[in-house]
Amino acid sequence: MPYLGCHLSASAGNMAMVQTARSIGADTFAFFTRNPRGSKAKKLDLSDCAAAMAALETWGFGKVVAHGAYTMNLCTADSEARAFAAEVLCDDLRRMAALPGQYYNFHPGSHVGQGTAVAVEQIADALKKAMAPGYPVTVLLETMAGKGSEVGGRFEELKAIIDAVGSKELGVCLDTCHVYDGGYDIVNDLDGVLAEFDSVVGLHRLKALHLNDTKNPFASHKDRHECIGQGSLGLEAFRRIVNHPLLRDKPMILETPNELPGYAAEIRLLREMMI
Ligand code: FE
Ligand code: FE
Ligand code: ZN
Repeated sequence: MPYLGCHLSASAGNMAMVQTARSIGADTFAFFTRNPRGSKAKKLDLSDCAAAMAALETWGFGKVVAHGAYTMNLCTADSEARAFAAEVLCDDLRRMAALPGQYYNFHPGSHVGQGTAVAVEQIADALKKAMAPGYPVTVLLETMAGKGSEVGGRFEELKAIIDAVGSKELGVCLDTCHVYDGGYDIVNDLDGVLAEFDSVVGLHRLKALHLNDTKNPFASHKDRHECIGQGSLGLEAFRRIVNHPLLRDKPMILETPNELPGYAAEIRLLREMMI
């Protein structure tokens, strides 16, 4: 069975997130390593990290999926801003090492006119600098909707980054809203999309999912999340996703427009659909 969770506020610390997750029936969760639209990070509390790690183990949680800031654009054309983003990535990965074995996911970035090939090299350079050999956290590239000049809207682009980094440790987090908006039809052909992912990237790289319905029609390249079952993906698509044999045992994170009670209800709904 997949693990289910949602985005939680990191302000009260890691142990508090584990407890909150448990209180809403989740057995994984996501959090922003810093303000999602800013760059400030909280002071690292190592004893809180250790307590959270022990609680994850005790309560049988799946991997936790931390999320880098949306503003961190590793392939912006502005070299100063790009260097700053690379520093933010280094700092995030240094801090994440206090949660060994977990996942760190981020948006590859937007190339803002430089072209995908240049962007792939810039993203890979930043990753190579930030990931020391034997780095204890698996870094995940998120599949994007292909909005504007976003990199990662095609599986081939993610594979190009992975190849340029040359790291065995890099994985992918598949966002259901993003891939559908990006033109992968997971409603009518989930098996076909997973087969395509396997042939381009390799299913062994698929480590986590973001479960979001979408406000927009297929291949709209828009990226607007909707609550589960209320958008163009629809409930049946999610029934197939949570029960798919190739997606078993993966953390699935809700990023739907909800507060905690809404997330709790979606987790219950998805669990009820699991066979
Ligand atoms: Fe994301
Ligand atoms: Fe996402
Ligand atoms: Zn999104």
